[in-house]
Amino acid sequence: MSSSKKDRRRTPPPDPEPLPGLIDAHTHLAACGGRTAEDVRAILDHAEAVGVSQVVTVADDMVDARWAVAAAHWDARAFAAVGLHPTHAADLDDAARAELEEMSGDERVVAIGETGLDYYWTTRSYDCADPAVQRDAFAWHIDLAKRTGKALMIHNREADRDLLDVLAAEGSPETVVMHCFSGDRAIAAECVDRNYYLSFSGTVTFGNSDELRAAADITPAELMLVETDAPFLTPHPYRGQPNQSYCVPYTARVLAAVKGLDEQETARILGANARRAYSLPLR
Ligand SMILES: [Zn+2]
Ligand SMILES: [Zn+2]
Repeated sequence: MSSSKKDRRRTPPPDPEPLPGLIDAHTHLAACGGRTAEDVRAILDHAEAVGVSQVVTVADDMVDARWAVAAAHWDARAFAAVGLHPTHAADLDDAARAELEEMSGDERVVAIGETGLDYYWTTRSYDCADPAVQRDAFAWHIDLAKRTGKALMIHNREADRDLLDVLAAEGSPETVVMHCFSGDRAIAAECVDRNYYLSFSGTVTFGNSDELRAAADITPAELMLVETDAPFLTPHPYRGQPNQSYCVPYTARVLAAVKGLDEQETARILGANARRAYSLPLR
């Protein structure tokens, strides 16, 4: 890698113009460096300074789930989602189930996940769970979301059809969030029919994402969320640089443009949607 590319990977994007009322519907605080109360506070202070007043921090594996719950207790602006990422679905043994069930009863835990199907890594990573194992773990998380009444946080990579079929077969929980929505217009329409939330990340700002913007365009504003999935998927024109919750306004402005809505109004709607989806208190 050239040194200028390395520099870019380390250089955070500049602060966007503030856009009050936003919530980051899906981030990973620990992976962004938030592993102590002080570091979490610094990340959330930065976000709040540009209008991002609350975040949902999401677990990938069991260690991450413990970090997420801890962060949600350290800082009133953070809420947690707990579960095993589909690539780690093979870790869902009896001990993991028991611990996730216990965590899911915590009042700071607002969602179950991220769970779902990932067919990208099955052929590219030797330790990625097989599709059949992913499916069983997904069904277990769906059931946990129903039992707890919390939102189901869906991860979907290259598995649109199977993912929607599993949800239909198992029966959707009351609230389903399609995190980092990546489908086309037809998949978006199907999700809208089912009243799922479509959460858009920085990918909707990328130059080659015309179909994704078309999917956003047909999504009713009331079913839209905005997220970073930080530290990944930094919005254009800062792609490849480190992402954090303070970057949400960049993506929210693109969603406003796609919908032809005023930026402030868009931020207000997106924030209200996240509060409704995750039953968050007003701040
Ligand atoms: Zn994901
Ligand atoms: Zn994620």
